[in-house]
Amino acid sequence: MTASLTPAERSAELSNRLRRVHTRITSATAGGAAPTLIVVTKYFPASDVDLLAGLGVTDVGENKDQEAAAKALSVQAQDLNWHFIGQLQSNKAKSVVRYAAAVHSVDRLSLVTALGKAMAAEQSRRAQAGEQPRADLDVFLQVDLREQAAAGGSSGAGAGTGAGRGGALPRELPELAEAAAATPGLRLAGVMAVAPLGADAREAFARLAALSGDLQRDHPGADAISAGMSGDLEAALENGATHLRIGSDILGPRPPVR
Ligand SMILES: *Cc1c(COP(=O)(O)O)cnc(C)c1O
Repeated sequence: MTASLTPAERSAELSNRLRRVHTRITSATAGGAAPTLIVVTKYFPASDVDLLAGLGVTDVGENKDQEAAAKALSVQAQDLNWHFIGQLQSNKAKSVVRYAAAVHSVDRLSLVTALGKAMAAEQSRRAQAGEQPRADLDVFLQVDLREQAAAGGSSGAGAGTGAGRGGALPRELPELAEAAAATPGLRLAGVMAVAPLGADAREAFARLAALSGDLQRDHPGADAISAGMSGDLEAALENGATHLRIGSDILGPRPPVR
């Protein structure tokens, strides 16, 4: 159990796991451009985030606003980039833009609008408080890579709109991209996806790479591809991933939800 380790022991454990992941990344990229490694710290304490920062980690990922906001306030480490990677309700946008550099889970027009409004409010809050304006929010469009999503069928859980969907349908991307690119305070960074359960990750990430190519024809700067988790980072890197989101292979198994 994590709790029984001293900070020095925990740091050594994180360091070893981080090194193994870096070794996997290096051999998968074979001297190519290094991706951004986002260490997913969900369910783990702020103390782990501080230990990771001490080991040179610059980017961390979280999937729940309440947990992320509290952690971002309590970490000692400065200048970390916080990436929001979970499903996001529009009413949490105001909170998220206070700490997040990027949101990887933008999957609908109403969320683009909410994030744009939240950024405007955050910039005026900062101006009134005499603080520096923040940088534009990096927006990744999350794509549903399930086959029935590509086919545009209306059957199957989460097809179309509604709860539980893991991203926008591929055909919805152009309109979402236009909206994000036209919204002050947002920077359209690129695409994001999770390989569907039971699917061949290489095949899924190849489709994501093709969608990224389509997106870049209209938005040349939107060249980021957020793909690859602990189990499939090699498949993602083979298909052009620029941002990896790695949790359990660095932090260890997630603690049971209390
Ligand atoms: C938890 C999570 C990850 C990290 O997954 P691991 O398998 O622990 O590496 C990556 N992406 C998203 C969207 C997640 O929710």
